[in-house]
Amino acid sequence: MKTSAPDTHDDLRDALRALCAGFPPEYHRKHGAAETYPAEFVDALTEAGWLAAMIPEEFGGSGLGLTEASIVMEEINRSGGNAGHCHGQMYNMGTLLRHGSDVQKQQYLPSIASGKLRLQSMAVTEPTTGTDTTKLKTTAVKKGDRYVINGQKVWISRLQHSDLMILLARTTPLSEVKRKSQGMSIFIVDLKDAIGNGMEIQPIDNLVGHETNEVFFDNLEIPAENLIGEEGHGFHHILDGLNAERTLISAECIGDGYWFVEKSRDYACERVVFDRPIGQNQGVQFPISKSYVAIEAANLMRFEACKRFDAGQDCGAQANMAKLLAADASWEAANACIQTYGGFGFAREYDIERKFRETRLYQVAPISTNLILSYVGEHILGMPRSF
Ligand SMILES: Cc1cc2nc3c(=O)[nH]c(=O)nc-3n(C[C@H](O)[C@H](O)[C@H](O)COP(=O)(O)OP(=O)(O)OC[C@H]3O[C@@H](n4cnc5c(N)ncnc54)[C@H](O)[C@@H]3O)c2cc1C
Repeated sequence: MKTSAPDTHDDLRDALRALCAGFPPEYHRKHGAAETYPAEFVDALTEAGWLAAMIPEEFGGSGLGLTEASIVMEEINRSGGNAGHCHGQMYNMGTLLRHGSDVQKQQYLPSIASGKLRLQSMAVTEPTTGTDTTKLKTTAVKKGDRYVINGQKVWISRLQHSDLMILLARTTPLSEVKRKSQGMSIFIVDLKDAIGNGMEIQPIDNLVGHETNEVFFDNLEIPAENLIGEEGHGFHHILDGLNAERTLISAECIGDGYWFVEKSRDYACERVVFDRPIGQNQGVQFPISKSYVAIEAANLMRFEACKRFDAGQDCGAQANMAKLLAADASWEAANACIQTYGGFGFAREYDIERKFRETRLYQVAPISTNLILSYVGEHILGMPRSF
């Protein structure tokens, strides 16, 4: 399918498509229906080095940019898979790379690059405070050479398929800081040591079969050297990585969007009702065309965000706008697709209902559309702050 995006990565796409072809629709359908984790697919991506795309070569990664990393994510979704099962490995390491000490980087990054260690999880969201992150209640109190963690998190993904987790917790009470974004810190948690020793997890049964969990901390002790970056600056350290996360997820939505449009177009051309292909009816054709236009526009913004990120320029506006445009476009394409298929859109064997559910997530996570609009209103357009 033609695209207007400035994309010159045919070799990269060909390699990804060859790998993904080994995991046909039946594979993803089986895991989707059983709500099991596609471990073989994630292992294959890891072994081929794709999930270490952004780790610098000096630490054993490929040293590629966000542009290439986003193409990896896009191709996974475009092939019918779901990069949500493994995208954490791609962007969580960025926090370590930017803010970790030399010792931490040497300790973790080569093993993450080789696939020996999985850094798939980041624990920010809490059940009582939700999007109001600076009010989070999980605390980390320094006692000698350890931090003691107490509190609760929710929706923490891929914990059962990860060795490490990045945790955001409050180290100085909210009442004692000048700005609410101060006084939080990030830590690297070794899940093997933590689970059962002060950290418990409870899987959440959910719409998308996504491996995600409630987490309870009851006097979990972690070594003080697991603090990443400066104590009290964790919120800003985490924010730094969110532009990469948003851009990568916009690429996943774009992969979903093209998948839906291709499916819709093919079916609209072949399904004959009233003695003609349904796609001959403009009522069927136009929603598909419209969603293609939206995906194309989102794709341009996604590559603009990637270009700026890779050049070390500020890309907050573009990353947020790409995420919003792409999430909306993939959802529009999903709706057009299920409508084009009529009743068959609801049958598992066509994969549409699964992808429909999966792409709906991106209206809400990792940041909801409302919160992006408020970012645009306040930070780009200069309108009054609403919270
Ligand atoms: C499958 C899944 C996986 C996830 N994985 C992770 C993970 O790995 N790690 C992690 O930390 N989190 C994760 N999350 C959490 C996700 O980031 C949050 O669900 C999301 O940011 C929304 O927060 P919330 O659910 O607390 O909604 P709330 O903050 O309770 O908000 C509810 C609704 O109200 C809207 N709203 C709230 N305040 C405002 C306002 N001021 N103006 C306008 N609208 C507002 C929100 O946009 C939202 O639609 C995951 C969530 C899901 C569903």
